[in-house]
Amino acid sequence: MLDRPSCQALDHDDPLAAFRERFLLPEGAIYLDGNSLGALPKAVPGRVREVVAREWGEGLIRSWNAAHWIDLPRRVGDKIAPLIGAEPGEVVAADSTSVNLFKLLSAALELRKGRSVILSEADNFPTDLYVAEGVRDQLGRGHRLRLVAGEELVSAIDEEVAVVMATQVNFRTGFRHDLDAVTAAAHRQGALMLWDLSHSVGAMPVALGRADADLAVGCGYKYLNGGPGAPAFLYVHRDLQDRIRPPLSGWMGHREPFAFERDYAPAEGIARNLCGTPPILALAALDAALDLWRDVDLDALRRKSIALSELFIGLVEERCAGLGLTLATPRDAERRGSQVSLRHPEGYAVMQALIAEGVIGDFRSPDLLRFGFTPLYLRYVDVFDSAVALEKILRRQGWDRPEFRRRATVT
Ligand SMILES: *Cc1c(COP(=O)(O)O)cnc(C)c1O
Repeated sequence: MLDRPSCQALDHDDPLAAFRERFLLPEGAIYLDGNSLGALPKAVPGRVREVVAREWGEGLIRSWNAAHWIDLPRRVGDKIAPLIGAEPGEVVAADSTSVNLFKLLSAALELRKGRSVILSEADNFPTDLYVAEGVRDQLGRGHRLRLVAGEELVSAIDEEVAVVMATQVNFRTGFRHDLDAVTAAAHRQGALMLWDLSHSVGAMPVALGRADADLAVGCGYKYLNGGPGAPAFLYVHRDLQDRIRPPLSGWMGHREPFAFERDYAPAEGIARNLCGTPPILALAALDAALDLWRDVDLDALRRKSIALSELFIGLVEERCAGLGLTLATPRDAERRGSQVSLRHPEGYAVMQALIAEGVIGDFRSPDLLRFGFTPLYLRYVDVFDSAVALEKILRRQGWDRPEFRRRATVT
């Protein structure tokens, strides 16, 4: 059943197939790393050229008003809102995910002053934990960072916990939390819930509003395709917005930045979470990249994401049995994000050999091969061809060459 013609048939019937045409993809490569850096949407280069040449080149300072640059963080936030189940005015694009975590984690601890614990996962993305250590040390009020295994997160929530800071989809294994259940468990104990949606947004529907989640951050350059180092976003539940005390109290979050008042007074609503002048060129790229989501059915996106990863796991089980791979991703599709991770003792070299064959995934230490499945621009045949390439490399030990063992800075 898992042959190439049946994959071609799946592509033929794929309701999302047309989106591939809206990306600029390199010839001869199969791109399985859109979970790390999304591909380039065709709409982006033209938009960036326009902003540089006309809005900046000709409009100069006038473009802050005439081209509405000043509103861009809000407008981009409003485009992201429907992808995460938020309302207009609950999301703003700004800074990086790390900086946004700093801002919202600090604010959360202020909102739960009597409580001493930041609860997170030991296997969380390192920057999330580094930021939490920084916030704890900076505040110097005796907060503790309690780290547990992902499956123990809910049972570790008690009345000491001020905020549960969790990443919905684990970057290593692809394990996916039940967002509703974890949020509800945090609220039952009176804790705030701060989600990192970096590996969820643009990969599946997210329903922050339905879950009544308090706070969230996420990444602009992964499944949102905003380009390397694209601005990130942050979400604050409407009911909390005016209670947030921004720790980075910059002028762009001031009530009236151009009144140049001497004292800080936070803006109403989500805007107070802005700090400095927004990076307009980068925001314009993200803004243009977001336009294609207007036409995307997120439930169809999730169905295809699951179908692609099921296909890949099935092919690997069928073709690569006994070749040293183990599945690190949950076998249950409900518990998975949009990636499949495989362990192999020579994982780094295997991935370099795959990349040399034009199958681009990535590697995470110590032994994880990561394959991201982006439903908007991947075909079922791409999944088939990737599994065949992987089988070939493992059978012939094609990875066993010195150049594939040499570690680059970015893996
Ligand atoms: C990608 C990612 C980040 C990246 O943070 P930056 O500040 O953009 O470097 C943070 N957290 C998680 C969970 C991620 O997946």
